[in-house]
Amino acid sequence: MALISVIIPIYNEEENLSVLYQKLNEIAIQAEYDFEFIFIDDGSSDGSLRIIRELSTKDNRIKALSLSRNFGSHSACLAGLMYSNGDVCTFISADLQDPPELIHRLINEWRSGYEVVIGVREWKKDSGQFFQRLYYRLVRKFALKNMPESGTDVFLIDRKVVNAVISMGEKNTSIFGLILWSGFSQKVVYYKKGARYKGASKWTLGKKIKLFIDTFVSFSYYPLRVMSFLGITIAFTGFIYALIVIAARLFYSKTIEGWTSLMVVLLLVSGVQMILLGVLGEYLWRNFDESRRRPPFIVKDFIGMEEKKEK
Ligand code: UDP
Ligand code: MG
Repeated sequence: MALISVIIPIYNEEENLSVLYQKLNEIAIQAEYDFEFIFIDDGSSDGSLRIIRELSTKDNRIKALSLSRNFGSHSACLAGLMYSNGDVCTFISADLQDPPELIHRLINEWRSGYEVVIGVREWKKDSGQFFQRLYYRLVRKFALKNMPESGTDVFLIDRKVVNAVISMGEKNTSIFGLILWSGFSQKVVYYKKGARYKGASKWTLGKKIKLFIDTFVSFSYYPLRVMSFLGITIAFTGFIYALIVIAARLFYSKTIEGWTSLMVVLLLVSGVQMILLGVLGEYLWRNFDESRRRPPFIVKDFIGMEEKKEK
């Protein structure tokens, strides 16, 4: 019988855990597979970890890792992958926005031979979410062409893909990006994304911006191209203008006055330069961070499982 690893990143979700567990139980009862549920406590400061410990004493399918602090849900998912044993792994969020029942549909597609099955939310035409749409549109255009149009939060991946993603061992990246980047045969399943069961979203604006930049820096060199392009355009324009000014002085003895225009050009060009330095810095910092070889997460405690020996 195939073993399915369900990986759930958890950050301050104490109100959702018991209902989540109930749902997971229902799924497991109906199915003709074995399940393991891997809860990753991503440095919660509420009672989540205590509840996870309680659940794990009752049910030996529950395994959990407690991370030493909040590393972000993508690192938490990577931790889950590294400590999973399943023939397939799937991620779901603890707030029940992605209905756990969806797992059955994902598994069916996997059984028919797809290595990556993606749950894509159906998006109503007029349902706001402007920035989220823009994000996915930009990602599709400049970074990952095979990103579904309305993005995705739910994945089910074969062991082959799991091993590929683990072997990359990257930080400051999007785990979903790595899965899409790695290729493999891919199938999309549509579902209705619900509202959060309890509590508020744990993704702050700062975290979203970080993910946005991570995705681009990890999977695209477009921002660097834009830098070169802007540089060439500005330099070329400047060169032509210099010729005009010199010609005017030589042939017509005209000097072009212009404190105002000078200031405008100066401020504009130095502003653009600063922005572009920032872009460069984003790449450079990630390079530096990678070269320090700090791990993407640190496990403080293993619950319901043995610490894994080095493979
Ligand atoms: N999460 C996490 N670490 C974080 C932020 C979120 O493990 O730093 C978890 C969270 O507990 C949930 C999942 O990631 O299970 C999705 O987060 P959330 O529902 O807050 O995001 P949204 O649905 O708003 O995108
Ligand atoms: Mg959510």
